[in-house]
This record gives sequence, C-alpha cells and structure tokens, in this order.
Amino acid sequence: MTIHPNLLERAGGACELCRSAEGIAAMAVAPRSDEIVACEACRREIVGDIEEAHRWHCLNETAWSEHPAVQVVSWRVLGRIEEPWAAELREQLYLDEDTSAWAKESAGGASSAGAQKTVDSNGTELQDGDSVTLIKDLDVKGAGFTAKRGTLVKGIRLADDPELIEGRVQKTVIYLRTEFLKKA
Ligand SMILES: [Zn+2]
Repeated sequence: MTIHPNLLERAGGACELCRSAEGIAAMAVAPRSDEIVACEACRREIVGDIEEAHRWHCLNETAWSEHPAVQVVSWRVLGRIEEPWAAELREQLYLDEDTSAWAKESAGGASSAGAQKTVDSNGTELQDGDSVTLIKDLDVKGAGFTAKRGTLVKGIRLADDPELIEGRVQKTVIYLRTEFLKKA
C-alpha cells in the first residue's frame, strides 16, 4: 500500500515499530482503516508467525507511540510473544478505552475467527480480572522457577489464544495454560 505523505511524515520515513526504513509500506490495522508505516520484516511477522521474538524488543520504545494504530499493533504483537518481557511491557502499556476495544477486536484473520471463549479446566468461562488456582506444578520456562500447585493467581488477563491467560506469579507476568488451572 502506498504511504500517504501525512502518514510518512508522522512516521519520520521509517517503520513505526522498529525504525527500519527497509521496504516500508502502509498497513491498515484491521478491522479499522487507520494505518501504520511498517517495514517488510515487521509486516511479515504481524500477518504471519513470529519467528524472531527478540527483534520485537524495539517495542520497548515504539509501543509508547502517541498514535493509537501503533499502540494497537504493539499490544497485539506483544500478546503473541510468550516471553516474560513481552507480557510485562504489554501490561504496562496504557490503552484508552477505545484503543483497547480496537486492539481486542478481531482482525478478521483465520486464527481469530469465531472468538472462542477462554475456559478453565472445568469448562468455566474466565474473564479479565478473575482469580484462578493452579491445579498442577508448572515449570516456568525462562523465569527459572516452578509455579506450585495451589498457587492463587489474582487479576488474570485473557490472551489472544483462548488456551492461555496472563497472570502474575512470583512477581513475574507469565502465560498459563488454562487446562492447568481452575477459577478460584
Ligand atoms: Zn519494522
């Protein structure tokens, strides 16, 4: 997509996510028509699989953009990276009500079709802010500790993937598989 001169100026002639100027193009942030400027590498991972999670550390700076479209893309990308730093940054980002609704709206992709409910091991539906209890000891990859069975996790957040939720265990925000927990 060609980049509108105003948009190009806003972006400073570079990708609004990683600041690279390689193969930049405008990209609509579905389901709305607002656009961001993104380089080829970023666009590839936004629409496809995230193959290089570490390259998204760029969001530590760019996710704080004042532009909602950039905030939405950042928030969505961070939600797809299963690493503590990404979950933590995502939690810190402040999206206003409208932007948050936009970020959670289905982008219309095959993976998000049908908006599946997130349920615990008993099939009870989970919502943002619920508390859950772990029903199994879980090794937390990358964080170097085991989340013990019986641990209460308060104030969970739903993830894009209905099989995962985000929760804080031992001061670390991690993803937990819903099959290993039950609503408290
Ligand atoms: Zn980029």
